[in-house]
Amino acid sequence: MNDAPFNALRNEVVACERCPLAETRTHAVFGEGPERTPVVLVGEAPGAKEDESGRPFVGLSGRLLGELLEEAGLPREKLFITNTVKCRPPENRLPSKAETAACRPFLAAQLRHIRPRLVITAGNAPTRALLGTKEGITTLRGRLHTCVWEGMELSVLPLFHPSYLLRNRGRAEGSPIMLTLADIREALRLAREFTPGF
Ligand code: SF4
Repeated sequence: MNDAPFNALRNEVVACERCPLAETRTHAVFGEGPERTPVVLVGEAPGAKEDESGRPFVGLSGRLLGELLEEAGLPREKLFITNTVKCRPPENRLPSKAETAACRPFLAAQLRHIRPRLVITAGNAPTRALLGTKEGITTLRGRLHTCVWEGMELSVLPLFHPSYLLRNRGRAEGSPIMLTLADIREALRLAREFTPGF
């Protein structure tokens, strides 16, 4: 795989001014991880720490998700991690429809380049963006869904939003944390089924 197009895409994102979020961001967060991976993790949008550092999933909730990935045997270093929207919405509000639409070509280009066998979505926003459904994450999480998005056939496994996990850190049976660990193990099982040796 030629890395040049991915680097060019990264440069385009870093300099992007396609939507008003460019005016308030510190850094656009392109994403990080191996380009040659069968699994991509997509979150909603950068938060304060991500905006400050230019790296995805480094705030409290992102770090918690990282710990759960590690615990379940799927460390974040094995995945490419990004968001549906690459710049932080002020006060961590939800990205608007227009902002999500403006940023959509970047996520599409990333997925077209990496061609993942499995996309893990974290929370409602990326799940709805890819699956085009209005169903909530409680219904959708932990199960494999397939869709055609931007001309690509995708296999999508949704997880709870990391900030929901941060607010519900108990480990009783059936708790969000324990369900998420089980969901990540299912994602790992599927990734290995799709890509033997992963
Ligand atoms: S959110 Fe996306 S479209 Fe908007 S400025 Fe950032 S990179 Fe560009």
